[in-house]
Amino acid sequence: MPRETKYVVKGGRVIDPANGIDRITEVYIDGQIIERVGGKKNFQGRQIIDATGMLVFPGLVDIHTHLREPGNEDAETIDSGANAAIRGGVTTICCMPNTNPPVDSASDVRYIYDRAQEAPCWVYPIAAISKGLKGEELSEMGDLAYAGAVAFSDDGRPVSNSQLLRNALAYADMLGLKLTLHCEDLQLTNEGSMHEGTVSGLSGIPAIPGISEAVMITRDLLIAEFLGVPVHICHVSAKESVHSIRAAKARGVSVTAEATPHHLILDDEKILDSGFDTNFKVNPPIRSREDIEALREALADGTIDAIATDHAPHSPHTKDKDFINAPFGIIGLETSASLIYSELVRKKVIDEVRMVELMSANPAKIFDLPAGALTQGAFADITIFDPEKKWTVDANQFASLSRNTPFAGWELTGKPVLTMVAGEIVYNETGE
Ligand SMILES: [Zn+2]
Repeated sequence: MPRETKYVVKGGRVIDPANGIDRITEVYIDGQIIERVGGKKNFQGRQIIDATGMLVFPGLVDIHTHLREPGNEDAETIDSGANAAIRGGVTTICCMPNTNPPVDSASDVRYIYDRAQEAPCWVYPIAAISKGLKGEELSEMGDLAYAGAVAFSDDGRPVSNSQLLRNALAYADMLGLKLTLHCEDLQLTNEGSMHEGTVSGLSGIPAIPGISEAVMITRDLLIAEFLGVPVHICHVSAKESVHSIRAAKARGVSVTAEATPHHLILDDEKILDSGFDTNFKVNPPIRSREDIEALREALADGTIDAIATDHAPHSPHTKDKDFINAPFGIIGLETSASLIYSELVRKKVIDEVRMVELMSANPAKIFDLPAGALTQGAFADITIFDPEKKWTVDANQFASLSRNTPFAGWELTGKPVLTMVAGEIVYNETGE
């Protein structure tokens, strides 16, 4: 569809950390691209989007999602996932390869791009590190990169074989791409279902200690350091992991890390309060208050670089089991920005600029995606966020095909109200 409309977004607080912008000004859009931010006011021949009182920032970038296509289209499709994204102010998503079949060949990568053609936001596939995600043999990483994979991961499972990981890190680096690693020592996890702490002790539910994650992160960072290559760490949840990453950064290891909204906000007491609602079951598990405090410190001091949802849809019948037997996973695309704003920005853990850095500028930079900035000539991917809008999370209203959120019923303040992708308004609840 040709996008010829010239827009001006006026009156909003424009936050564009990549370009050092944080002020009330205008954003001019010409067709698909950003024409300029600020400068001489000239609204002639333009459609005006009034953003007075709003935050205006580059569209959010979520580098960790599961879209379940191919193989489990009841839970999510690329299109439904992308629709969930735009309702959450997210304009670029990366999807993990643990579909059925997994994305471990060039044709699988092309399939994702093909299916994403009609999707309302940018969708980039992450390809498997190992064939069939089995952790035994490397995938054809060169072919996958050539087909357009933006990173490699066996997410859902760790790469337990250290030699395989070493080779994967080296090849990925030669291809100019990164690994994004799910770090978990499966022996320490020992088929646990929740965080090892007071609540697991009380309930008798088999538990996963924080060190299951931290031990593996430490190994992965040592290997990356030895090779002198960059690496990205998925969904950091434990305080021990934060210490390991912080120490590695201090000695110059090229590591970036992400945390999810649920690990930053929920603790295991909430699982007890919920009566062991399986919508709280996720891997890595919801941890303790101390872990949350460590993660929040890490957000503020730069140890953690990005917020990603690990959006993991499951159709209702698959979560309708007891806690031990339910699958791991929480959806997050439609609540992420509002949760971070409500729980972290309004409560002064981070400010608005850091929020945009963590949710747009940095994730784009980590995988070198063409997003995350309102730079002249860039695609006009823009989120308009109403910082005063109060709303209640109602999973039945989600565009996602799944409902597995632990935040149902939460009253939040702040919401993405207009999302533009490549100069096209793809989501708009401003009423204009
Ligand atoms: Zn994972």
